[in-house]
This record gives sequence, C-alpha cells and structure tokens, in this order.
Amino acid sequence: MKLYSTNSPEEFVSLREAVLRGLPQDNGLYMPETIPQLSADFFEKLTKYSFQELSYQVVSTLLQGALPEEVLKNIIESAIDFPAPVVQLDDDTYVLELFHGNTLAFKDFGARFMSRLMSYFVKDDDRELVILVATSGDTGSAVANGFHGVENIKVIVLYPQGRVSDLQERQMTTLGKNITALQVDGSFDDCQRLVKQAFLDQELTQAHQLTSANSINISRLIPQMLYYFEAYKQLLEKEVDTEKIVFTVPSGNFGNITAGLLAQKMGLPIKKFVAATNDNDVFHQYLKTGEYNPSVSVQTLSNAMDVGAPSNFARIKDLCFTWSEIKDLIESYTVNDEDTITKMQAVYKKHEYTACPHTAVGLESWERHQAENPEAKSVILSTAHPMKFGDVIEKALGATSELPEKLAVLTKREKSFTQMSAQFKDFKKYLLDMNN
Ligand SMILES: *Cc1c(COP(=O)(O)O)cnc(C)c1O
Repeated sequence: MKLYSTNSPEEFVSLREAVLRGLPQDNGLYMPETIPQLSADFFEKLTKYSFQELSYQVVSTLLQGALPEEVLKNIIESAIDFPAPVVQLDDDTYVLELFHGNTLAFKDFGARFMSRLMSYFVKDDDRELVILVATSGDTGSAVANGFHGVENIKVIVLYPQGRVSDLQERQMTTLGKNITALQVDGSFDDCQRLVKQAFLDQELTQAHQLTSANSINISRLIPQMLYYFEAYKQLLEKEVDTEKIVFTVPSGNFGNITAGLLAQKMGLPIKKFVAATNDNDVFHQYLKTGEYNPSVSVQTLSNAMDVGAPSNFARIKDLCFTWSEIKDLIESYTVNDEDTITKMQAVYKKHEYTACPHTAVGLESWERHQAENPEAKSVILSTAHPMKFGDVIEKALGATSELPEKLAVLTKREKSFTQMSAQFKDFKKYLLDMNN
C-alpha cells in the first residue's frame, strides 16, 4: 500500500512512514493511492461475519499486504474488542452507539487501532517513540487509554488546567505506566503551541523520536470505516430497506464522515450522508456557497465539534473532486444549543433515550432532513456516552442517570500529573530531562 499527500499527489510514502509521521511535511494529509473495492462475495457473506471478521476483511483489502496477515489479525482482535450496536428508536430512526469502549467516545476505535499499529512499526527500534498529544478533553483520554501499557511507546498528554471536566482529567491522570499527564497553566491553544514547537526544535527531535497522535493520522480513519459496515450488517439482519438509508454524522473535524466516504468508495452501498454540525458551520456554508472560509471556533454544548477549520476538508475534496459532487453526496444542517437541548428533551420523552449533546445534534439534523425526504431512513452515529457530559444532561433533563462503571471507578482513583507553565523553555527542559 502506498500513500500520497493531498498537496503532492505524485510523491508516495509507505504505510509505516505515513503512520509514524502523521502529517506530511507539505502540510497536506495522507491518502491511500488506491481504494480497492470489496468483492461481491464479501457483501454476500456480510451477515455471517462477526464485527472483527468483517473488520479484518475490510482492512486487509485496503492495506493490500502492507502488514503480515497474522499481525493484522492480532491488531484487529485487540483494537476492535467492543461492540457497536444499532439501536432502533422508531420505524425510520436507528442510533449507532459508538461509545462502548474504554473512554466512552468513538475516538476509542481510532486510538486503539493506531496505538497497536505504531507499536508494531517501532517494535524493533532501539529508541522509544514519544507521542505528544494536546487535548481539550476527549482525544487525550482516548489516546492515553489506547496506548496504555504499549511497549516501547511513551505518551505525554498536555491539557489546559481548569478547562477539562473532572472526569476527563481523571481519564488522563489515573493511568500511570507509560502515560504522563502535564497540566498546563494555559489554554488548549497553548498546549497545541507547545507540541508544535517541540516538533520544530532540533535539539528535541535529536533527543527523542517524537510523533503526534492527533486526528489527522490516517491510522485513526481506517478503523472508523469499520463500524459503517457493521451498522449496515445489522440493518440487513433487521431486514431494513438499506436502499433508503442515509448516515447522519455529528461532525467537527470531519474525520468520522470522511471514514464513511472511504467505506463507500470501497463499495458500501450508501447513497447519502448528512453532516450534522453545531454553530461552527464552515462546512455548511461551503455546501451552500461553494466557498470555504475557515474561522475561529465558537464554544457550544457539543464541544467536541467546536472546530472552525475542519482538518479533514482536504481529504473530502480529494475524494469527491468538485463542489457539486460533494453537494450530491452530503447534505448538512446546523443545530444551535437551544435546539440541541430541546432535542435531548424530546428524544427522552418520546423514546426514554438519553442522547449526548453531539448525538442530539445528529438526531435534530436527521429530523430536518426527514421532513424534506419523507421516504428516507437514517442511522445516526452516536459519538459519546451521555454521562461524559453529565452537566449538559442535567441541564436538559433535570437529573442525571447513574455513572457507567467505566467512569465510576475513576472517581476512586488518585490523580497524578505534573504542572507545567505555558512557556516552551520549561516544556523543553522537561522533555530533555526525561531520560536522565
Ligand atoms: C471528536 C468528536 C466528534 C467529531 O468528530 P469528527 O471526526 O472530528 O468530525 C463528535 N462527537 C464527539 C463526542 C467527539 O468526541
């Protein structure tokens, strides 16, 4: 398998290089040179496959021998080790729950797969791989968890002091082993600046083999294709008319929806996607006007989607080519905080279903789409467990439900972190002293 950068389509790198580098030097994004089609035989047998079996079929078809068969099987088995159930709300509405992994958000799929792939690629290196990740909450916990206990890899998570929830902080600071948490006296932007500066610092890149684990890494998108196939399989089992299905995807950086587009390119018969966004509506404006104007993000209740410059936009353009082709494939809706809360209440009242704010943005977008397309049915991707956002649940529904076990155990664990100023010289000294 070869990959190119969206900015230099004629230069190719190996899977190993794309995964360990993350971002090409020309600031583009890595894409597979070819996207092979799954066979008719695969789709005929789909309902007979387990989630892991279909995952192996899809990934081995895409990677075309880039990894030995046994290695890939092991990676899939240990990374895709939790279910993605489709829950029916009414005749036309199905929710795909992607929050049954360790940190209760869909990012567990990408982080677990990426960690095992990186670990395989560096296993014979004499130097440890040091992963720096700046986070505003969800990404740091998924990455820390995904890499926890993985040999020859060290993870350093930088998070802004006082700006992540107590549970999110606990998810990052109670792991120990190869995970180090730095509580930065600054904002998320400061954290991101420190990480970026570290990559540019020669003394640091000589002292350590540094990489990043943010969402633009191609190895996080690959496993995100898999649950589209898994959802489709479950719809077939439920004898749903899949011709009418649109996938509704709550979107921020647009990685999740890009993974859906890749699944479609590999042959998954989906005709339409609905991009559900909050007030950060850069993509929505692009579909309307054909002009792409990234901006600064605004804060909303669905905060994991507060993105002003969706980083996967370059990949969507690369896959679909023109504005009108993108418009044919994706419809978008923007849902403000007030409508998000109203939707959470309505869904609870009607179905006794508690949706996280991101999922609620998806459900509301679907309702608006359905009003214009009464024949359609939809699978809405549910991106996080509602109790990750207990304060919003309380605001919307008046009470919260019990904490799931995976979060409840955290409240009993001791937090452990190092405080760090937002000055690069302090961060640099910390990294240089680390091995001594
Ligand atoms: C990251 C995230 C999103 C947005 O996903 P993208 O791939 O960035 O579009 C939506 N919901 C939740 C809960 C997330 O953590």
